[in-house]
Amino acid sequence: MSEGSRRANDERIVAPQRQGDEAQVDAGLRPRTLDEYIGQERVKENLRIAIEAARARDEPLDHLLLHGPPGLGKTTLANVVANEMRVQIKVTSGPAIAIPGDLASTLMSMQPGDILFIDEIHRLSRLVEEALYPTMEDFAWDFILGKGMAAKVMRLQVPRFTLIGATTRYALLSSPLRDRFGTTFRLDFQTADDLERIVTRSARILDIEIEPEAAIEIARRARGTPRIANRLLRRVRDFAEVRAAGVITLEAARAALSLLEIDALGLDDIDRRVLTAIIEKYDGGPVGLTTLAAAISEDSDTLEDVYEPYLLQLGFLERTPRGRVATRLGYRHLGHPEPPAVTAIGAQQALF
Ligand code: ADP
Repeated sequence: MSEGSRRANDERIVAPQRQGDEAQVDAGLRPRTLDEYIGQERVKENLRIAIEAARARDEPLDHLLLHGPPGLGKTTLANVVANEMRVQIKVTSGPAIAIPGDLASTLMSMQPGDILFIDEIHRLSRLVEEALYPTMEDFAWDFILGKGMAAKVMRLQVPRFTLIGATTRYALLSSPLRDRFGTTFRLDFQTADDLERIVTRSARILDIEIEPEAAIEIARRARGTPRIANRLLRRVRDFAEVRAAGVITLEAARAALSLLEIDALGLDDIDRRVLTAIIEKYDGGPVGLTTLAAAISEDSDTLEDVYEPYLLQLGFLERTPRGRVATRLGYRHLGHPEPPAVTAIGAQQALF
């Protein structure tokens, strides 16, 4: 993510990435077992079988790759797996492993069966990535001893560990790295029902009373993302404590969310500005990414990484070879009359 995107993300209540002090709060709300982990049923069922089989054989789990948008529960799932396997987990990230030596010392400090979790694994440097291959395949660390003609490649054994890699950008992973994972799972956006269960569970942990209808309301606006659901819940709780006698009623949830300018589908002011600009300034599009970014005074990386994904997911926006197009659904959501010609062009473009 660019510097601009990072700044934009940090100020936004519906940003899916972790913000400032959230790591600690997140940790308190994290499920610890597969039974507590809500949703993602197919992934959970597969993991359950793999864990049971590995434990019965007394072997480490195969290397596991988790991919999907931020805030969906990849880090949480890695911790759950470690807990279910009853092993230790070391948590690091692609950019944090600066040189192969960092990786070597981490691996050497692990016990057989332990888990190494590398978040943002697509951001590993090439050198580190290449040093990782023999450790994943043969649990071996290759290094060169001596110089010039006398140099020899030596091999050290590392403990048999399990690598869990997580990435939001699967396409950026090199195929040799992808191929070395025994299992790959994609986490999907959560359904409103599962988000409602997450909100209810988090409210219980945070010790705040919440009406079922209020949990549904928060879930609906959480953009399919547990991290956003938990963040909205905390903001609504503040409101309820100050204005609603400490109970999150439907009315309190609605009032708090509209004060935060988050609409019924979880769109905020910037999402609406993006859509409105396409519709009002460019007749519904197509409009190029850079032109659109300039129209809303943002940089194009920020527009692409931070603002567009949810609009695309809702089907309010389409990417076409000639630029961005607002769809019928987008017009309707903003209450704009739909010009048939523009949407027809949009639909046609999308076919290419
Ligand atoms: P990611 O690593 O994909 O960015 P995290 O694992 O950090 O996401 O999840 C963000 C937060 O959402 C966690 O703190 C956790 O409380 C919550 N969360 C994620 N998935 C679930 C789930 N399936 N059930 C309950 N809470 C979840």
